[in-house]
Amino acid sequence: MKKIILSGDRPTGRLHVGHYVGSLKRRVELQNSGTFDKIYIMIADAQALTDNASNPEKIRQNIIEVALDYLSIGLDPEKCTIFIQSQIPELCELSFYYMNLVTVSRLQRNPTVKTEIQMRNFETSIPVGFFTYPISQASDITAFKATTVPAGEDQEPMLEQTREIVRRFNATYGEVLVEPEILLPDNSACLRLPGTDGKAKMSKSLGNCIYLSDDAEEVRKRIMTMFTDPGHLRVEDPGKIEGNTVFTYLDAFCRPEHFAAYLPDYPNLDELKAHYRRGGLGDVKVKKFLNSVLQEELEPIRARRKEFEQDIPEIYRILKRGCEAAREVAASTLSDVRKAMRIDYFDDAELIAGQAESFKKKG
Ligand code: ATP
Ligand code: MG
Repeated sequence: MKKIILSGDRPTGRLHVGHYVGSLKRRVELQNSGTFDKIYIMIADAQALTDNASNPEKIRQNIIEVALDYLSIGLDPEKCTIFIQSQIPELCELSFYYMNLVTVSRLQRNPTVKTEIQMRNFETSIPVGFFTYPISQASDITAFKATTVPAGEDQEPMLEQTREIVRRFNATYGEVLVEPEILLPDNSACLRLPGTDGKAKMSKSLGNCIYLSDDAEEVRKRIMTMFTDPGHLRVEDPGKIEGNTVFTYLDAFCRPEHFAAYLPDYPNLDELKAHYRRGGLGDVKVKKFLNSVLQEELEPIRARRKEFEQDIPEIYRILKRGCEAAREVAASTLSDVRKAMRIDYFDDAELIAGQAESFKKKG
């Protein structure tokens, strides 16, 4: 069986370091590994509209931002297909059929959607489109027969929902769809990177982000005001590592060679943590170290972005070509789906001939 990746992001803002460690970095590694037959990267504008219906301009303006972020982290349009969800109408048709295979109560049990509904104060007025977006995600994944979805932990319920739809579809209509697997980050700090405010998840909607395109000074400010251990008031006080955002970020980003380069007093992260726990290590010193580590990672991304920003029409041409290629694939899957569901009336010579025969017999 072919190995195919589908992954994507909502164009609700620029991409941040949570996306980077949760999914983007992995996509680039997989792209360059050459072990996948196809890689599809989707800008999920239709999904973003499900909770931004009254603000389409925000989505429209952010498509280019996400595309620029993709190119600057190293996604290469020669090796992967970058496309925009709304330009593939076949995805909507798939969703319409998949909706018949999912119950309302099943959708209500999705823990990620539950949290997102609370976050958006939607309790009494959930848009139907938002409520059903896990079904639309199943369409995105299955349309490309994706086997692998590199994503953060919040996507696990979506993948489970997709697999259920695939099993139900295949059992009812015949083997057409492929069950995908989620590919989570290996590093547990990256499963769900917290926000700079210490909140559970860095998220565009919560405004607690370090963006890939933030300049060096913005990144530094974000780090210097980052949530740490509120009980660690004086340098000599013992500090906590658990729930301390600065250390979570170090878990996510720091490599042994960073110590030799920026903090040679310590051989590794374990020693730094031990000193912090004992007391006598100030937040500022740890934050400055994190700043050096993050700046090293982000600097080349920023530099590449500046280059891509010089030719915006070319980025749109790349996206248009991606959409055309993606549409062909989605149309082919949709055609298989229609055939399996027996809603391909005009292509079915047997149906027409058989009915012609039986009506003739009736006289
Ligand atoms: P929004 O607030 O608009 O939902 P978001 O910041 O949650 O935006 P998405 O576009 O929903 O971002 O997520 C895109 C991808 O990035 C998904 O694979 C998701 O799992 C991953 N991701 C998002 N935030 C984080 C995070 N804080 N840590 C790890 N992965 C993340
Ligand atoms: Mg999200």
